[in-house]
Amino acid sequence: MIRFLLLTVLFIMIAQAFWKVVDNVIAAASGSSPRVSRGPRGQSPVVRLVRDPVCGTHVAPRASLSLARGGTTQYFCSEACLAQFRQRS
Ligand SMILES: [Zn+2]
Repeated sequence: MIRFLLLTVLFIMIAQAFWKVVDNVIAAASGSSPRVSRGPRGQSPVVRLVRDPVCGTHVAPRASLSLARGGTTQYFCSEACLAQFRQRS
């Protein structure tokens, strides 16, 4: 009887350890893969470039000056271009 109880306890402990490992594997698989794909998407080296309407230079929106007007946003390479655009329109 004691042997049976010990075996039962041992089985439960093994089962719990097994499911803990399975849970960790599932968490790692489902948790890390979106993280991996989110990373490159967030800090993508391929930056969409927009054209400066004044001088025609292509600039990265994040690194440029922007002017929201109407429903659109214009991006400029420099203060000078932004000022020119403001004077024109
Ligand atoms: Zn410019």
